Amino acid sequence: MKVSFPYMGCVTGYKKILEMLGHEVIMPQKPTQKTIDLGVKYSPEFICFPFKVMMGTYIEAVQRGAEVIISSGGHGPCRAGLYGEVHEKILKHMGYDVQVIIFDSIFRDFGTFYTHLKKVRNGASLIKLIKDIRFAFQIICRMDEIEKKIKILRAYELNRGDFNRAWVEIQKLYDKCWTQQDLEKASKIAHQMINDIPIRKVKDDERIRVGIVGEIYVIMESSVNMNIEQNLNNMGVEVENVQYISDWVKHNTRGFFGSSKAEQMIGKARRFVKMNCGGHDMENIGWMVDFKERGFDAVIHLMPFGCLPELITQSAIPTISKELKLPILSLSLDEQMGTANNQTRIEAFIDLVRNLKSAPKTEVKEIEDEVWNAKLLKQELAG
Ligand code: SF4
Repeated sequence: MKVSFPYMGCVTGYKKILEMLGHEVIMPQKPTQKTIDLGVKYSPEFICFPFKVMMGTYIEAVQRGAEVIISSGGHGPCRAGLYGEVHEKILKHMGYDVQVIIFDSIFRDFGTFYTHLKKVRNGASLIKLIKDIRFAFQIICRMDEIEKKIKILRAYELNRGDFNRAWVEIQKLYDKCWTQQDLEKASKIAHQMINDIPIRKVKDDERIRVGIVGEIYVIMESSVNMNIEQNLNNMGVEVENVQYISDWVKHNTRGFFGSSKAEQMIGKARRFVKMNCGGHDMENIGWMVDFKERGFDAVIHLMPFGCLPELITQSAIPTISKELKLPILSLSLDEQMGTANNQTRIEAFIDLVRNLKSAPKTEVKEIEDEVWNAKLLKQELAG
């Protein structure tokens, strides 16, 4: 089968599992403005932004020969649960003979999960399938681990672009892994490459650490979030993103592949919200609390235009920010890709965070009071 999938963050692991099962992989292209325009043209106007980007990605993949598209689903009052069916309908309506297969949590509907698995396993035995999945999952975990490290160290690189160049080479290394031995060798070389990059030394109290929370697609895919992680690193800011594919797999297999922090985060969120409204809204609030507890300096929340769950998170942010005394910036992203407005807001926000960090303690109290009061005043005026 000629198979494709959505482009979301690091895609080496998805490619690997499909290749190991003997499929011809039509690699999705990293979304560009053309992809987004295409998606916007054929999507319902008021659907959430990730749907449109994926629509464009699928059209491009189908035009290059994909017969099957594999993606993940969702549940609760969030549109992700309908993505697959609606995408497939639109593609068929456009005249493309394509099937969209959605893998949802194994525990929600085992029958459908098994039917899809049968199709995707391409005649492979159950033992081979499990072995291949485990191997691909190891690749995903190791690459996620390196990516996390890069998003911290890149803030201090001496020669701009060193980490990005290394990351391109690291992706190629993992792409060539077919055995456990290959994997161990690739990991050793990859870590060595990262460790060899010269970085600026900083004192602990000079580090600015920002957590990124929000809707899974927009926080994972740099082409739709103004490359925010790179952008912050360029300002000398360390970044920690809360979403990685390895965590998603752990959460949706209920610990079969290792423990996920999702449940713990939902527990931390209960102080501010009582129920999950879909997507990762509750987890995101829990992560804000977690970032505060771990001494982070600020949080940036990204939400796609038209996303109900993250709108709920956004509405809780003024209270959370005030109670935790944690600066939180919420940005809405859509197909209007002009970056100047958001760029200015991010720069101003980081300036504020730096000032809070460097001001003497007594001043901090005054600055904080001013900031929170200004926020409340703005809210009152808006309300
Ligand atoms: S979380 Fe938001 S953007 Fe993502 S699918 Fe659900 S409604 Fe759409």
